[in-house]
Amino acid sequence: MKVKASLLCFAIASVLATAQAAAPTSKQSSAEAAAARRAAAIARANVLVNNNPGAVHRAKADVFAVSDVIVDANGTEHVRYERTFEGLPMIGGDFVVHSRDAKLDGFSQMLKTSARPGLAARIGGDEAIVEAGAVFPVKFSEAPTSRKVVYARNSAPLLAHEVVFHGMKADQTPTEMHYIVDATSGKIIDQWDGIHTAKPGSGSSCTSPTAATGTGKTFMAGDVVLGTSKCGTSYQMVDVSRGGGATHNMAMKTSGMGTVFTGSTNVWGNNLLSNSQTVGADAHYGVATTWDYFKTVHGRNGIANDGEGAVSRVHYGRNYQNAFWSDACFCMTFGDGDNGASIYPLVVIDVAGHEMSHGVTSRSAALVYSKESGGLNEATSDIFGAMVEFYANNASDPADYVIGEELFPNNASMRNAIRWMFKPSLDGASPDCYSPTLGNLDVHYSSGVANHFYYLLAEGAVVPSGFGAGTWANLTPASLVCNGNTSLAGIGRDAAGKIWYRALTVYMTSSTNYAAARTATINASTDLFGATSAQTNAVKAAWSAVSVN
Ligand SMILES: [Zn+2]
Repeated sequence: MKVKASLLCFAIASVLATAQAAAPTSKQSSAEAAAARRAAAIARANVLVNNNPGAVHRAKADVFAVSDVIVDANGTEHVRYERTFEGLPMIGGDFVVHSRDAKLDGFSQMLKTSARPGLAARIGGDEAIVEAGAVFPVKFSEAPTSRKVVYARNSAPLLAHEVVFHGMKADQTPTEMHYIVDATSGKIIDQWDGIHTAKPGSGSSCTSPTAATGTGKTFMAGDVVLGTSKCGTSYQMVDVSRGGGATHNMAMKTSGMGTVFTGSTNVWGNNLLSNSQTVGADAHYGVATTWDYFKTVHGRNGIANDGEGAVSRVHYGRNYQNAFWSDACFCMTFGDGDNGASIYPLVVIDVAGHEMSHGVTSRSAALVYSKESGGLNEATSDIFGAMVEFYANNASDPADYVIGEELFPNNASMRNAIRWMFKPSLDGASPDCYSPTLGNLDVHYSSGVANHFYYLLAEGAVVPSGFGAGTWANLTPASLVCNGNTSLAGIGRDAAGKIWYRALTVYMTSSTNYAAARTATINASTDLFGATSAQTNAVKAAWSAVSVN
């Protein structure tokens, strides 16, 4: 969907046309009604954009394309746009239009200027590839590419090359590094990893699968109900009732999509790692639980909110001790750890929730995976990973604000984990409190301040059981806050989760930083609970307690 000033008349005409079409008749399917509502919302937003070029810092050669639409129950509409300038993608040029009854409520964006750079590059694309190649840390696995972009994450947008290198790290993590090379100075001014190995697979070869309900005999989560499919006389780990989300066995390979788990019965695994189906059942259950969490709690229908399931790949690599989301294959991937010598397969509920939430972020705010926005991206995955663990309410994996604690053997004290949300510095690397240099850290450490905010918002300055004075963590209420506010009260997980989800999907954009995250969550809480509500006051107090003022 492109919007140009010259198309204003068409935009208005289509508002009138689609506004009539938007009233669903009894014969119309709900999918058709949703599509009509979406089209009408886009048409109304296009008019508002065209009527307010200054507010969106529009330059003459800017072109906008819609990337997401959210319509609230009360009819408020939020239409998200990406921007190109002279046909070049504009990184950081995205924005969201908020309106009700075709009346503008405002814009969310980080861009602050309609100034645009000249298009003559002093440094060519080939030179940019050489610059980036000098810092790409491993052998590249396919030819690097470059494209011209406008980099607008700084106050003055500049012309740059986006160079992409693919390779495999020593630990078997695939890497898809994006380097932004200033086309004037030749300097690398930003970089992030998109992670990518495989093209989308064809998944199940079954032509007409029917939904079935199986039993997963998991390693981490006990015996659970699994959504599967029946195909002729056999069964497949394809969740027909959740968009066809499928779990594939990589059989220790690191490329391709592996093969979908298939069985002659609808019972999967035997609770032991010696059976290859067992961790498939864990991952399939964790992903289904995450799907249910987003649908039930937030009304989101799958990762892209389009009802489509994703592929999960298990038994990836040899002794691979990580898990990852890849935008390129729209899939999640889980390693086996070292099969429990020191770390179990990474298929536990909060890790599955973490990876799938990366997909949700990429299909909403699309927070760039570097600097402060990258930390907020990581935190979003930890926040929803933890909330999925609470939602699962599984006695084999009691819920907490510790990420990945079930991955480590003999870990009753939760001394081993990936991250501790209530006290990020327990990992030895993540700051508890905000400082202006936070964005220089790895995104898994700059996430800590937002995790910390979220814990304080939901639970208040209350030390979780098992971590208090005299334990290994030795925490006190005073050590949980950065500003001495030990009387900080929590608003509960339900309210906190709804605020973060709304901030992510409605108000954050690709370059949102910590200061803007504070604003986004205050806006979200104001919508949900009111500007002077206890919840909105708690949002402000919790940010202040992690030094974001
Ligand atoms: Zn992550």
